[in-house]
Amino acid sequence: MTLMQEIEAHERTDAALQKAKESAEAANFAKSRYIVGLSHEFRTPLNSIFGYAQLLEREPELARENPVRVIRRSAEHLSNLVDGLLDISRVETGTLHLNQTKFCLPDLLDQMADMFRIQASGRGIEFRYRCDPGIPQYVVADDKRLRQILINLLSNAIKYTKQGYAALDVRRRNHLTEFVISDSGMGILPEDMEMIFHPFERGGMAHARAIPGTGLGLTITRLLTKAMGGDLTVTSTPGEGSCFTVRMLLFAAMSEPRDESLGRNICGYIGERLSILIADDNPSHLDLVHRTLSPLGFAVRFAQDGTEAVAKAAESLPDIALLDISMPGLTGWEVAAQLRLMRPQMKIMMVSGNAHDFQAVDQDGSIHDAFLIKPFTIQSLLESVQLLCKREWIYEAPPRQADKPAQKTPAQAMPSGTRYHVEQLIHLGQIGYVHGIYAKLAELDAENAAYKPMTSQARLYVRQFQFDDYFRFLKAYCA
Ligand code: ADP
Repeated sequence: MTLMQEIEAHERTDAALQKAKESAEAANFAKSRYIVGLSHEFRTPLNSIFGYAQLLEREPELARENPVRVIRRSAEHLSNLVDGLLDISRVETGTLHLNQTKFCLPDLLDQMADMFRIQASGRGIEFRYRCDPGIPQYVVADDKRLRQILINLLSNAIKYTKQGYAALDVRRRNHLTEFVISDSGMGILPEDMEMIFHPFERGGMAHARAIPGTGLGLTITRLLTKAMGGDLTVTSTPGEGSCFTVRMLLFAAMSEPRDESLGRNICGYIGERLSILIADDNPSHLDLVHRTLSPLGFAVRFAQDGTEAVAKAAESLPDIALLDISMPGLTGWEVAAQLRLMRPQMKIMMVSGNAHDFQAVDQDGSIHDAFLIKPFTIQSLLESVQLLCKREWIYEAPPRQADKPAQKTPAQAMPSGTRYHVEQLIHLGQIGYVHGIYAKLAELDAENAAYKPMTSQARLYVRQFQFDDYFRFLKAYCA
């Protein structure tokens, strides 16, 4: 190489280094701005909690009044923020796992319409639903995430509409499926049209800002739509209404799902009994996994830290280990390394509440066989365990054909297990345990977004002390 060529090569390297430095600085700056925004969002509800908690310490008799409600609402707001941020982080770090299943699209849409019709009528507005007969019957996609997208947009349509209607219109254009969610509500200012898709941005309209919200719903909805290969657009006229359109390519499945199990409860599995070791320092996590897996016939053992996990595994050589990553003493990864040596064919699932801990399974070199991020739903826990143990589930007997009512009831529009939760809510109402009701509603919100329309309506009745309406409303879910 001549001297000139060498100088030129150095210059190119310098320029590339300079560019890398600038983009790293820009990313760092954006991150700092984001963290400042985040801390502001967390500080406001935290301030209310601190302030009112101090007030209650000084004057406990205030407990029956406003402060407790403010504390609960602030805590609810914080918990929504955390859920939303986790979703955004999963998309951004590429750890969002899309679960492609074959499902019946018209059924999913009917469920949405049933749920939101109830919610709209509770707010005194009309709900319009139209579905193109040409949409495919069975499609392959992530039904849970599609539900989340529609729930976010339909909840907004109802939330930001005082009178008139909210509508869901589903159309098919070539292979594209269009979900159009429109309303006759307050609309969006032209200067806010792009900004509302950014985290924590709630637009400049005073009426909208007066309605509680986190400003994360649309950010998540757009990210999820993109992750599913689609796009989300909006048009709006202030004072007249808004129209959000989700377009995505939904592939029609050639046959209906073979899985007759949808909507039915799992009660066991085929094959010899399997043993599972669960290691976690959080007792409520241990309790949840125990309550889910023991009734299905798994022999479940627990450990509350890494050292205990290794000792228990040495005693019982379990078939499956569920290891929390951050535990006192040995970390989950260190335990996994020791268990692998103990029993190479053991199936190891790492569990973590931190999306950034995620490590994909590499068939050749990984120490683990699966990864689950908390908070997880019971369904995703069962799916992961099934993938690991490769056993076929046994389901509760399906209802006899003759028992099935022709019309869909609200209960059928909800996840399986709803009846059990609703009966608990009714019981809590009968004994007048309002705090218990709020706690149960918050638990359902955290478990599955599909409960949101039911829980928000129930919460509204309790807040307004309309217990007759509360019971009537909930009983419809037991029909
Ligand atoms: P949130 O509703 O929690 O504030 P979103 O991200 O879902 O968060 O929405 C961001 C903002 O966009 C809202 O605060 C509201 O100002 C505006 N917006 C969203 N949907 C609608 C709608 N259907 N009609 C009017 N404004 C809306």
